Amino acid sequence: MLVVCKEHLELALDIFVDEHEAAPDVYDLSRVSIPGMELSTHCARCSSPPQYVLVKLGTPVQDRV
Ligand SMILES: [Zn+2]
Repeated sequence: MLVVCKEHLELALDIFVDEHEAAPDVYDLSRVSIPGMELSTHCARCSSPPQYVLVKLGTPVQDRV
C-alpha cells in the first residue's frame, strides 16, 4: 500500500507496478478509508498531506460517511 500526494501519484503508480507487477486500485483518501490499515499522515515521497492511496486490486475499502 502506498499513500501519496497528488504530485507524486504518477511516481507512486510506477513504484507500485514495479513492486507488484500489477496495477493498483487508486482511491481518493477524502472518500474512502481502508479497514484494518494504519494510513500514513504524509506522502510516501514528501511531507505533504496524502491525497491518494494505492492498494492491491480487490482490497476492501470503506466509504467515508
Ligand atoms: Zn508527495
